[in-house]
This record gives sequence, structure tokens and C-alpha cells, in this order.
Amino acid sequence: MGTVLGCIADDFTGATDLAGLLARSGQRVSLRIGVPSGPPADTAPFEVIALKSRTAPVDRAVADCRAALNWLRRAGAGRFYWKYCSTFDSTATGNIGPVAEALMADLGASQTIYCPAFPENGRSVFMGNLFVGRQPLAESPMKDHPLTPMRDSNLMRLLAPQVTRPVGLVDRLTVARGTEAVAAELARLDREGVAHVVVDGVADADLEIIAAACRDMALMTGGSALAMPLPVLYRAAGLVGEEAVAHERPDIGPGAIVLSGSCSAMTREQVRTYATQAPSFRLDPRDLADNGPGEALDWLAALPLDAVPMIYATAEPDDVRAAQDELGAVVAGEVVEQALAEIAVAARDRGVRRFVVAGGETSGAVASALGVTRLDIGSEIAPGVPWTFSESGGVQVALALKSGNFGAESFFADAVAKLEGA
Ligand code: ADP
Repeated sequence: MGTVLGCIADDFTGATDLAGLLARSGQRVSLRIGVPSGPPADTAPFEVIALKSRTAPVDRAVADCRAALNWLRRAGAGRFYWKYCSTFDSTATGNIGPVAEALMADLGASQTIYCPAFPENGRSVFMGNLFVGRQPLAESPMKDHPLTPMRDSNLMRLLAPQVTRPVGLVDRLTVARGTEAVAAELARLDREGVAHVVVDGVADADLEIIAAACRDMALMTGGSALAMPLPVLYRAAGLVGEEAVAHERPDIGPGAIVLSGSCSAMTREQVRTYATQAPSFRLDPRDLADNGPGEALDWLAALPLDAVPMIYATAEPDDVRAAQDELGAVVAGEVVEQALAEIAVAARDRGVRRFVVAGGETSGAVASALGVTRLDIGSEIAPGVPWTFSESGGVQVALALKSGNFGAESFFADAVAKLEGA
């Protein structure tokens, strides 16, 4: 069976998050890193293309997304999903709105919806306003994000300057009246020419109603959670087989390593916890800038293959600032990413087959050094973080790629245990 739903995600760990939620259904989900260069082959019913377009120049983001759409259409997809962050990370110029408008134009769609709610992770939308836990978005830590500071919580106001056509809302009261009420309100707005509709969603049950109302839209947009009900809806409609089951897990060799380049609050807890349980090596960006990762590589080579060590650059904000003051923020980040990427390749070459990686940028650097272009999605370790399977240098590997704030304190040990038990 060909591809049914084609998804485009604006960053790497966002793509694994979406793929993991879709895979909860037991359907096969395939994730491609970047737009594949060749024609579609060995496609899954659910295909996700991971781009790096969140903070790219608008023209570039639009061009990449249109290329991804084109590939997904050739794979057979008839429905499409544009996935962005559940905190609506964007600026007045984009990229959420411009990409949605470009995809709508290519698909001939007159309307799409916007719903970044992710109840399991505390993101909800009410009367068009986005909340992070109990805080409005603009009062959450996202107000200080270095690239996409979110200073307004109202999604209609955030979206309006990003698009050329009218913006509207289907509010929680309508969602509470059920699928038919949502569909009728969307149809009414469509007749009025409202192309961009923010839809309120507070709990998972709301997302089920919204997904059911919108399942035949050519394009839906949102965070990962809104896509979660789609596989079941498609199965009920006969679009995907009843019998479809999760992709058979390839045989993965032993040997595991934890690599952390994330300095987010939750990762810092996870590193602290795991450091008491396993051999650990701390990387310092200043040291790496002078001497490279040789010392870490020697340390790793001296360990037995079954040690499951951790190598991390994770540090407290003061340490990060000190390294950034000395090296510059960009160089500090790059030397860490480069070192962890090199260490991942060395680990693979000495027989390690399981990689737990913390950090969005870090995951991108490690995956690209391992030459990974396509991942099959396996079982979920924590909401939004699945194990993934791929090939690297001619061997089967498993990768768990975690964005900064996901997972519980015990995430690293959980990840290793989950794969053993899977
Ligand atoms: P997250 O998902 O938590 O945002 P990322 O990997 O996306 O994590 O981003 C963290 C960035 O911080 C990376 O570029 C990484 O190389 C950099 N970094 C990691 N450790 C340090 C450190 N000790 N000092 C400065 N920068 C660091």
C-alpha cells in the first residue's frame, strides 16, 4: 500500500516526535532526513520528511517544503500535514504561515487549520491563545528564546502578519459540540473566504474531534499531537490496512552509548542522574577547541563494549556562558556538535549499535555524521521520543533522538532498557 499521509516537519526532533506519535497506532512510519534525492521507494503508509526550516530564510523554507510536498505526492500521498513546534516558534515573517500558504497553493486547498496543542506535554489552545502549562505562551520561557522569542500568546495575531488571506477561529465551545459542529463551522468560514483557521484544543479528546472533522482536508497543520488520531481514522475509512503492524524491528547488535549536547533543564537532570549509574566523560568546549576530542576517544576505547557510557557537554547556564564568552556562541556549539559526531562514528566503528542522543541540534549533527538518511520508527520511550532504526556504514543501528526538554529524569537508562525489552 502506498503512502496515505505525507508529513513535513520544520526540525529534526520535531519530526521524530511526530513519527513516534503516529507509530503509536502500530502503523509503519518512515522518517526521511531532508528531501530524498531519488524517487520514492520502499514507502510506508505514513511518511515524515524532516527539514531544518524553522529559522531558515522564508524563501528557503518555502522552497524546501514545496520540494518535500512534491516528493510525498510522488510517493502516493493524498493528504498532507505541516508540523511545527507546539510553541508556534516563528517570527512576523514566518515560517509557519508562508509555508502553509505555499503548500495550499500547490494543493489547490482553500483552507487549512492551525492547532499546536499537545496536551500530554502541557500545550493547549483556548480562544485562540496558546498556553504552556498554566502560563500564556508570552509569559513562558519562550518569551526569551534566542531565535524565535514568542511575545504574543494569541495565535490569530501571530499568524495574521505571516499570511496574505484572512485568519479565523473555531473556538473550544464549538469543539465541545463535536465533529459535525467543527466541520460545519469550518465550511461556513470557508464560504466567507477564511483560509487560515486556528482551532482550540485543550485535551486529547478535543484533538480527536478536530482530527475527525478535518481528516479529508488536503492540508492540516499543527504540533505533533493533532496527527495522532489520524491513523485510526484512516483505518476506519479503509485507507490503510487493518493488518498493518509496526515495522519489524531489525536485529540490532549490542553496545550502547549516551551522547548529550543539550543544556536544557530536563537534560541537565537526566545527565546528573545517569552520571551516578554509568561511566561518564565530560567534554569542555574550550578544551575541545584546543585539543579536539582525542582524550574522550581514548577514554571510550579503554572501556569494555558493554559499559553503556555517557559522554556529555551538558553544562549549567553559567558554564555555557563562560565557554561562549571565550569562544563565541556559534563556535562553542560547533566544537561540541563536531566532537559528539566524531565520537558517535568512532563508537560505531568499534561495535556500538545503540545511540541515545540528547539535543535537537546535537541529534542532527550525530545523525548526519553517521550518514543516516532514513529512519524506521519503533517503540516510544517517552512522549514524543521513539527508538528509531537505521543503517549506518553498512550496519544496522538504533537511535533515540531526544529534544532538550523531553523525557523523565531516568530517560537515558529508560531508553537503554526499553530497547532491550522491545
Ligand atoms: P536542545 O534540544 O536542548 O536545544 P541542542 O543540541 O539543540 O539542544 O542545542 C544545544 C547547543 O548547545 C548545541 O549547539 C551544543 O553544541 C551546544 N552546547 C552543548 N554544551 C555546551 C557547552 N558546555 N557550552 C556551550 N555550548 C554548548
